[in-house]
Amino acid sequence: MSLQLKFWGVRGSLPSAPSPQKRSQAVEDVLRQFFSSGFREPAQISQFIESLEVAVLGGYGVATTCVEIQSAHQQLIIDGGSGIRNLSESLSKGKTKFSAGPYHIFMTHFHWDHVIGLPFFAPHFLPGHEIHYYGVQAELEKLIRGLFQKPYFPVPFEALSAKIHFHVLEPRKACKIGDITITPYQLDHPDPCWGLRVEAGGKVYSHCVDTEGTRVSREEMGADLPLYQGTDLMYFDAQYTFPELAEKANWGHSAAQVGLDIAFREKIKKVLFTHHDPGADAHQVQELKRQTAEYYDSRLKKAQQNKESLSPIDWNFVHEGFEIKL
Ligand SMILES: [Zn+2]
Ligand SMILES: [Zn+2]
Repeated sequence: MSLQLKFWGVRGSLPSAPSPQKRSQAVEDVLRQFFSSGFREPAQISQFIESLEVAVLGGYGVATTCVEIQSAHQQLIIDGGSGIRNLSESLSKGKTKFSAGPYHIFMTHFHWDHVIGLPFFAPHFLPGHEIHYYGVQAELEKLIRGLFQKPYFPVPFEALSAKIHFHVLEPRKACKIGDITITPYQLDHPDPCWGLRVEAGGKVYSHCVDTEGTRVSREEMGADLPLYQGTDLMYFDAQYTFPELAEKANWGHSAAQVGLDIAFREKIKKVLFTHHDPGADAHQVQELKRQTAEYYDSRLKKAQQNKESLSPIDWNFVHEGFEIKL
């Protein structure tokens, strides 16, 4: 195994759960589907459930950005959105060989949806634990300290029991944590946000969230082009529909079609779309998926007509808790 990833939070901007009314409606839809599929008996429920996509049944998730990466010998965390609380819980149960730390948390930027879970990452409060924070922003330490501060949070930074270290990274310069190499590249976002190219055992993961994807050509991407090259999996911001991109210019988020264009050109094998809008329920994300499939098919068809070679891409919209091995 070279790289194993788990997506603990995939929502953008704000944690967001469907209302009880919407949840009731979703249960009703699933029950209707059960009977219309010809099932009748309680004993058939498991078979029916297994036949459905997780996101069709359970939606895309509530928690904001947090990705856990494991190599053979190392664990990294990218961003501390509300998803980090569930990761913290799994670590405290000692379920992985990385439970005792030290923990390495890479920050892309400091918008609320990427930091809101950090005060709930339990190792901060445990003596004998060590946490390393990494980020390109020179004010990294000040920004993290600011999260543990009254009246926003009852425990001040000075009272935390863990040993906490800060590492300011140089843009576009690789750093090594155990057997993983990480290089930050700039994304297209209103407050500077740094994507990460993560490499181990010959596999490459490209973390491209939050980004508007305004620089599309290789020339425009310039020094940040390596983020998108030779990658096995690209994790890409697809909060909006393609038409919404024009309405929401400079909001810092993109659409799946932009990600597919990059992936086709750079021959990226797998793409996961993320940063789902807080207002989007499962049906709306599935509608984005349908529009993306239409675009994907039309690109392949056009290439076939023009006798161009276009490598297929294995793409999907990610849901909370999704795991993948590269
Ligand atoms: Zn965000
Ligand atoms: Zn942001």
